[in-house]
Amino acid sequence: MVDRLVNSEANARRIQLVESCFGSSGQPLAVPGRVLVGEGVLTKMCRKRAKARQFFLFNDILVYGNILMNRKKYNKQHIIPLEAVKLESLEDDGHFRNGWVIRTATKSFAVYAATSTEKQEWMAHINKCIEDLLRKSGKKAVEEHAAVWVPDSEASICMHCKKSNFTVLNRRHHCRKCGAVVCNPCSNKRYLLPHQSSKPLRVCLTCYDSLTRAKVLTSGENSFSKDSSGEDDSDDEDDTNRSQQETHDEHFVSWDSEEEERVAAQSREQQATVA
Ligand SMILES: [Zn+2]
Ligand SMILES: [Zn+2]
Repeated sequence: MVDRLVNSEANARRIQLVESCFGSSGQPLAVPGRVLVGEGVLTKMCRKRAKARQFFLFNDILVYGNILMNRKKYNKQHIIPLEAVKLESLEDDGHFRNGWVIRTATKSFAVYAATSTEKQEWMAHINKCIEDLLRKSGKKAVEEHAAVWVPDSEASICMHCKKSNFTVLNRRHHCRKCGAVVCNPCSNKRYLLPHQSSKPLRVCLTCYDSLTRAKVLTSGENSFSKDSSGEDDSDDEDDTNRSQQETHDEHFVSWDSEEEERVAAQSREQQATVA
């Protein structure tokens, strides 16, 4: 279905528009063979809270960014290659409804659509793109995915020692293996998680133990007990420059179905003139 749009002028125009909405903060998005499949606003679970983000689904990548002024300008562009993505539907939970997890090797997070129909549409379109990509490349789906981080607000005390209270000085940290919120002493070990980074990453003591034990069973030692990465613990995308409205007023737009309608309308016109 997407193939039909590859060389269409409308597709090229749309991709150019997305590029211009990100301005100089974004990457060039127009590459041969790329198609903009759909777009819309989703609520993304971030470290601190849920935030509205503009998502663009292309046939090979998923792009999202923070929404600025009038919803037509975006920044903080993130590009996720779809080949490595796996989706996982989430059960509705309180006011967290119509959600699913986007899993990748380096980062996994939950997003929520406004309605269940939209959720189904998003998931179906993304899964179709992944399927097509894997079929074309002959590659296997990536099996190792990063843990979804537990939001800060869900842990007032360390999830490992269950004692340490978080304060301004006693900061929260996230285990890169299980996603738990832990205190510094409970996450003072580093371990190499090659799917996520070439540097050893912060892990909680529970994960460190199980990783080390698993490693001993399989081969030699390859663990790190000292902080060697100097990684920044915060991946939070703060939007200090505007107050966010946590509402959905832009629904998922599938460019393919719009195109289908247009083509259908055209052919109806043509038939009408022929007759
Ligand atoms: Zn602790
Ligand atoms: Zn852990």
